[in-house]
Amino acid sequence: MRRGNFKVRLLIGLAIVAFAFIRRCSQQETNPYTGRTQAISLSPEQEIAIGLQSAPGMAQQHGGLHPDNRYQATVDDVGNKLVNNSIANKTPYKYDFHLLADEKTINAFALPGGQIFITYALFEKLQNIDQLAGVLGHEIGHVLGKHSNERITDSKYWQTLIMGAGAIDMGAVASQIGNGTLLKNGREDELESDELGVKFMINAGYNPEEMIGVMKILKDAAGPNRVPEFQSTHPYPENRIENIKAAIEKYKNALN
Ligand SMILES: [Zn+2]
Repeated sequence: MRRGNFKVRLLIGLAIVAFAFIRRCSQQETNPYTGRTQAISLSPEQEIAIGLQSAPGMAQQHGGLHPDNRYQATVDDVGNKLVNNSIANKTPYKYDFHLLADEKTINAFALPGGQIFITYALFEKLQNIDQLAGVLGHEIGHVLGKHSNERITDSKYWQTLIMGAGAIDMGAVASQIGNGTLLKNGREDELESDELGVKFMINAGYNPEEMIGVMKILKDAAGPNRVPEFQSTHPYPENRIENIKAAIEKYKNALN
């Protein structure tokens, strides 16, 4: 390779890296509902649109909606109670709770903008209504914490950075860092959602201790019925339980 050629590539690479940094700085916002500063690139309207577009496909992957209207009504009732009694009510998001027919996959998840899902497999494992509030509260936490938005923004950032680093032959290094960072954010998302879930449970009059019961159910759900949303990027259940206990203390005291 000629020396001049390398200089050009270095300059292009540095320019792309600089662009990625500058864009990321301009994307920094303080989340009005959590107080946390995060890099986001989608407006709430875009988040809602993405969620509504993806919802039918997600439902289809889990056998569609559950046919029993009474169970669906219970999910709606608990979900709406959590929203109406918390700051979730002050957000522009359109919350909609869906019970999925899937009897095999123990899971719950949220799409950006407020589309929230729980499978029948998880629903039937829950021992009381407070645990259902725990699961739905956690998912509302993902929506209000703008976690999908943050992860989409992160992945765009790393893609640009990898492109820039690729020009100066550092692609592999950047890609490893990128993967690590994405994983780390996922774990933090789970902890933040657990904490927000506890807060919403207390606000709506549910027993927050039952969030620990949810963790125990998830921990026992091993083998083929693993919980992708809760387990793929999750911290160890022990850490989550410690975090939940701390949140219960924090928000119980805040009410006094
Ligand atoms: Zn989660």
